Amino acid sequence: MFEIELRKFDWPQMECGCGESAGHLPGMIAELMALEQDHGHGEAFSTSLHGHVLTGADGLVAVSSAFLAVAMAALTGKLSEPARRETLGMILRVLGSATSVESIGGSESAFAAECIDAARQGKWLLYAEVVYGTSPAGTAYGFESLILIEQDKKRLRAVQAAAADRLPWDLKAEEI
Ligand SMILES: [Zn+2]
Repeated sequence: MFEIELRKFDWPQMECGCGESAGHLPGMIAELMALEQDHGHGEAFSTSLHGHVLTGADGLVAVSSAFLAVAMAALTGKLSEPARRETLGMILRVLGSATSVESIGGSESAFAAECIDAARQGKWLLYAEVVYGTSPAGTAYGFESLILIEQDKKRLRAVQAAAADRLPWDLKAEEI
């Protein structure tokens, strides 16, 4: 599924977070989706995607929302635990930047709106990670992402209660 989404974008025409044309990003995303089961030893953010999908200072770029759309699509697929964990970690990181600059104005807030929109369109995938996901870290990242983008707080509180045993204590206790 992510390959289909990947082909929707004209990557070489977009600016990457590293400052170059983003022609190299599809290859990096495909590598992420193919991570082996023992990659990263349970730790997220063990790939080099960060300085590309976002700038080194967590700034949004044109590819941020394109990455997000591809990453959400990838959640529908069969991913190794490290790939799922890393994908959900990057989704959270992009949404963290997007929700903090959303109202500032300028090109970054336009990118932010695109990111938030892409995540909201696929929010049921994030719920699926929270309720059924096979990566414990991914479950937490999925829930944190929903805290950032879900407008129906009542639904989110109900899922927080239903999935309490799957969430780390701080998210279980988080006031929503
Ligand atoms: Zn790059």
